[in-house]
Amino acid sequence: MRSIEATSAYFEQAANQLDLSESMRRLLLTAKREVQVQVPVELDSGEIATFIGYRVQHNAARGPMKGGLRYHPQVDLDEVRALAALMTWKTAVVDIPYGGAKGGIAIDPHQHSARERERITRRFVDVIHDLVGPDHDIPAPDLGTSATEMAWFMSQYSHYHGFAPACVTGKPVEYHGIAGREEATGRGVGILTLKLLSRLGLRAPGTTVAVQGFGNVGSHAALFLKSAECRIVAVSDASGGLYRADGIDVLELSRYQHAHDGRVVGFPGADGIDNRELLALDVDVLIPAALGGVLTAANADAVRARAIVEGANAPVEPDADAMLTERGVTVLPDILANAGGVTASWFEWVQNRQHYRWGIDRVRQELDRILGEGFEQVWQLAQSRQVSLRTAAYMLGVGRVARATVLGGME
Ligand code: GLU
Repeated sequence: MRSIEATSAYFEQAANQLDLSESMRRLLLTAKREVQVQVPVELDSGEIATFIGYRVQHNAARGPMKGGLRYHPQVDLDEVRALAALMTWKTAVVDIPYGGAKGGIAIDPHQHSARERERITRRFVDVIHDLVGPDHDIPAPDLGTSATEMAWFMSQYSHYHGFAPACVTGKPVEYHGIAGREEATGRGVGILTLKLLSRLGLRAPGTTVAVQGFGNVGSHAALFLKSAECRIVAVSDASGGLYRADGIDVLELSRYQHAHDGRVVGFPGADGIDNRELLALDVDVLIPAALGGVLTAANADAVRARAIVEGANAPVEPDADAMLTERGVTVLPDILANAGGVTASWFEWVQNRQHYRWGIDRVRQELDRILGEGFEQVWQLAQSRQVSLRTAAYMLGVGRVARATVLGGME
């Protein structure tokens, strides 16, 4: 299924509940601006390679547009469009003053040296710098990018517009970033998982968790949940999966991963497991924290988890979502579950604009407060309207954007 069809299907379910007019639906589903650019760069070999970059600015009704920059071979306009819309609903669900955007370049970052990735990033900024900016559209890390790319982004942007650290978030702490941003998406997944467990009447100690994807989101979620005494029985990444019934020492695994080219396979403290088996484990919580589209109509029936917390964007397709909901599996949707990242991005942007530093404790405290409020509102709405958490989250997000659109005038 195309990514945009999936996110639009979720949007329509909420729009029906909200009784939105056809004209409002069309306005909210259509992106404000979509850009596709050519990114020609010289490779280390001297050869010229031409990549395709995208930036979709979906909606600015509630503030400057915000969203990550993804480096992945499968990046295309359809995917970026869907992810940009998700950002609009995500920032609205947690009620931070942003709209939504997303960008990407269709490259496999692992196939390029750091120097090539730097040239690609800087060249991309050369062609889009006039379309973005601190009050307009603020990129951040996503799949395949990290603080390193954000530093290059800011540096290149400043060649054109002068010192403007708030033009991008997720920067290195030593280069206008903030402590607590890197961990924030995963930590947020952990915080929200604990809130969900308590609503489901489960206690964290001993709760079994499987994490698909041990990148920035999955690893920080696993570390946070482990510190809350959950049992992380399985994790995986692109290299393979690991299983240990008594729980994996994720701190040790994280160290192992750093020492082994970012891969988890071969970790001595667990047995091997494949991705299909991991998704079908009999656990309390399954956290898909890698790519989109991992649970589909073809494999949703195999899921035995009691709850799914979407660390990744769009990991569950609508058909699978319906099957899981029907079977009583609780799904905490991406637009709430992984909103910790963009929330901490907002903190970074605020501090950049104030030339001030909060410190990690305040970052964590505010993150907890904002995610907690978002969770409570979504949970209450789901109860009162007897809808799934996903539909409730979309209702909250879409409703806020629709109201801002009307209040701001549509001209
Ligand atoms: N890429 C992250 C997301 O999908 C973070 C976006 C941001 O911080 O702007 O939510």
